[in-house]
Amino acid sequence: MISLSASREEALGLDAGDPLSAFRAEFLIPKGPDGAPAAYFCGNSLGLQPAGAHADVVAELEDWARLGVGGHFQARTPWYSYHEAFREPGARLVGAEPGEVVMMNGLTVNLHLMMAAFYRPAGIRRKILIERPAFPSDRYAVETQLRMHGLDPAHDLIEVGAREGESVIGEDDLVSAVERAGDELAMLLLGGVNFLTGQLFDLARVARAARARGVVVGYDLAHAAGNVPLELHDWGVDFAVWCNYKYVNAGPGAVGGCFVHARHHGPPFRGFGGWWGNDPATRFGMHLVRDFVPHGGAEAWQLSNPSILAMAPLKAALRQFDRAGMSALRAKSVALTGFLERLLRVHLAERVEIVTPEDPARRGAQLSMVLRDGAGARARLERAGVVTDFREPNVVRAAPVPLYNSFEDVWRLVAALASTDEDLEAGEGASSLRSGPT
Ligand SMILES: *Cc1c(COP(=O)(O)O)cnc(C)c1O
Repeated sequence: MISLSASREEALGLDAGDPLSAFRAEFLIPKGPDGAPAAYFCGNSLGLQPAGAHADVVAELEDWARLGVGGHFQARTPWYSYHEAFREPGARLVGAEPGEVVMMNGLTVNLHLMMAAFYRPAGIRRKILIERPAFPSDRYAVETQLRMHGLDPAHDLIEVGAREGESVIGEDDLVSAVERAGDELAMLLLGGVNFLTGQLFDLARVARAARARGVVVGYDLAHAAGNVPLELHDWGVDFAVWCNYKYVNAGPGAVGGCFVHARHHGPPFRGFGGWWGNDPATRFGMHLVRDFVPHGGAEAWQLSNPSILAMAPLKAALRQFDRAGMSALRAKSVALTGFLERLLRVHLAERVEIVTPEDPARRGAQLSMVLRDGAGARARLERAGVVTDFREPNVVRAAPVPLYNSFEDVWRLVAALASTDEDLEAGEGASSLRSGPT
């Protein structure tokens, strides 16, 4: 039997050999009850603040103060073309070509915009296929789109869930549902990584199967962007949307991301018109130009001039992704999550059931687990300064994030769950669980 202290030694050794460990110091980590940095595992819900974000936001406040309307062209990053700063790093984040990605709006807004363009039910081809459970906002969006077209979700929404007694969705089941629906299926909308179970789908295979049957492929990458490597262009995905406040660390309610495959970059333009989607050469032409001239790429889907203050933190966040590189991040992520899984099996086999797939190729950072004693475990985690996402009565989602979590953080999570209330009262808990380097 491996002791908790032996596991801690192992964690410290892994941290010492981690080539990405320096990134942790570039984040502002909230404090736990005793004032020391928390072990933060909610990056799948709201990523931590990159230290550089503050200066990027302040720069815009300063330029606004100094320049007023002149900031559109004279700000250090001119507001007129501010979104263009994300073309290349945004494309690298999701495996796109530079013109295929635009940062705008929020996730659900973008999902509706994309469906307005790409979900065009006609004849018998009108059904939409989603996973079950889908994130509530996605489900609401899909149901209301169906209704807007005069359709009834009871007939035209296909949901594919896990089989009886299983917790993850079989990829074969997804593909055969696409085949069964045949010519009646208009669109497939799948979360890249399922928000609840942490299952990563084989996005290349699903896209291939759906496109071969003339089905529009849309992916919601809220839990995938910044978490797992993506190749949206090569997979031939029609559109994708994501939020930048989870694994991308661009702040609460951050401006969202949107991918439109190059083959849809018109003409003809399929989206809605707005001045920010107009060719920048004539965008401010106003009275001189009467016709909407869509920009040649995904940027054509923009409607309004974006909130510069809301977009600013995305600069610092994407700089970190470029410096670290997605393949190095993924390598550390697989190791961190694998370490969490191993410690849970060694120290808590009787008390924790892991719902997320065991195969690292079928999951991202997050492990979802069912605890035997939910209420007690929750209190122990909180007292030990371990921040996780707790769903009543006994489900915990924990995402070790390779940019800022350490192997020692992972150990702290497991040690807090493994401790008894007596340990905590005897001082063996909250503070000793946190001893050692941060
Ligand atoms: C987080 C999340 C959302 C949130 O939608 P917003 O429009 O950003 O509020 C939607 N869908 C999925 C799958 C999510 O994980």
